[in-house]
Amino acid sequence: MDLTYTAKEEAFRADARSWLEAHVPAPSLPSGDTREGFARHLEWERRLFDDRWAVVSWPEAYGGRDATLWEWLIFEEEYYRAGGPQRVTQNGIFLLAPTLFDLGTDEQRERILPKLASGEETWCQGWSEPDAGSDLAGITSRAVRDDGAGGWRLTGQKTWTTRGAFCTHLFGLFRSHPDAERHRGLTYFLVPLDADGVTVRGFGRLDGDEGFADVFLDDTFVPDHDVLGSLHDGWRVAMATTGSERGLTLRSPGRFCATAARLVDLWRERTRDGNADPRLADAVVQAWMDAQAYRLQTLDVVTRISDGQPPGAESSLTKLWWSELDVRLHETALALLGPESELDGPWTRGYQFALSGPIYAGTNEIQRNVVAERVLGLPRR
Ligand SMILES: Cc1cc2nc3c(=O)[nH]c(=O)nc-3n(C[C@H](O)[C@H](O)[C@H](O)COP(=O)(O)OP(=O)(O)OC[C@H]3O[C@@H](n4cnc5c(N)ncnc54)[C@H](O)[C@@H]3O)c2cc1C
Repeated sequence: MDLTYTAKEEAFRADARSWLEAHVPAPSLPSGDTREGFARHLEWERRLFDDRWAVVSWPEAYGGRDATLWEWLIFEEEYYRAGGPQRVTQNGIFLLAPTLFDLGTDEQRERILPKLASGEETWCQGWSEPDAGSDLAGITSRAVRDDGAGGWRLTGQKTWTTRGAFCTHLFGLFRSHPDAERHRGLTYFLVPLDADGVTVRGFGRLDGDEGFADVFLDDTFVPDHDVLGSLHDGWRVAMATTGSERGLTLRSPGRFCATAARLVDLWRERTRDGNADPRLADAVVQAWMDAQAYRLQTLDVVTRISDGQPPGAESSLTKLWWSELDVRLHETALALLGPESELDGPWTRGYQFALSGPIYAGTNEIQRNVVAERVLGLPRR
């Protein structure tokens, strides 16, 4: 195993570092899950795009740098090290785009990818429904064929759509073949949220942010060219997206290594001031090691992907790791801060968001089922 980077990779790191050091906004932007913060974040996304740092691993034709997966990991490390803002375009960039690259048409890629990368169009994920979360194949929102108009009419309700209150478009699953077996009758649609019949109703989160939305569709027309993948094959298309979501792209190790480094800084600061509880030393070291272990595990995943082996069901292991690691990192910081944690904004807010990690992108109970059955080959009962 060779863990050293090439001269080209080191040069890429140096370029990314110097650009980020010069451009990352200070002070930090307000939360991108508020209306005002979302608009400010889009300005930042545009700046990234203009200098070709928004989507480094994409082909140059779509605004990228043709970077390898290794270079993408390096960029992510540098991005979080520099304290770069959360990516409000992430559902488009990290979930929809990989699926478009794999299963979209040339026309869809040309039309959608550049606007998605620049933040001109923003995408939310419309999968969950009030009665279908973990049991995604149980969705009831339906798509009815409109032959005369050359497309489909969508009706139903999607919920928990992250930043849906501010986005311009939704990618989602709809039941297009009511008589087919549950997983087989679904189609993956791309829907502009300003289409007739769409009502977006934002709602607040417990932490005060307001980006979540219910999206109601009432006989909304979507033309054939906005079907992604084949008709009634939406389950397979969606599973391609979840591989990206749970596995590599949504949560790169750079994010957690940066949090672990901040935790070590916090420990040092409190030790210097005589405020650190020495009993927490082991927890700080353990959290830091866990972040490094996640980084090493990711290098293994990238090695395998680079060798042509898709991550498959093992992306569930990755999801379990990053989501539980994030909670531990923040719990340790709050323990270090003691009662002062009530006054500390970033760690407390980070902790509140970390608590949702074991729920979104498929709950950790479901991931454990996937690992048991599909990675370890254990019986279903
Ligand atoms: C911060 C956040 C952002 C989100 N963003 C989006 C988004 O952008 N788009 C979107 O479509 N959805 C989004 N979601 C929704 C998320 O995907 C669902 O919350 C999740 O899939 C769980 O579904 P549910 O809430 O309906 O819970 P349920 O499926 O009702 O599950 C309830 C509990 O039962 C457990 N459970 C269910 N089935 C099983 C089983 N077979 N075995 C063991 N345990 C089981 C679950 O693990 C969970 O603990 C988001 C959620 C959160 C918290």
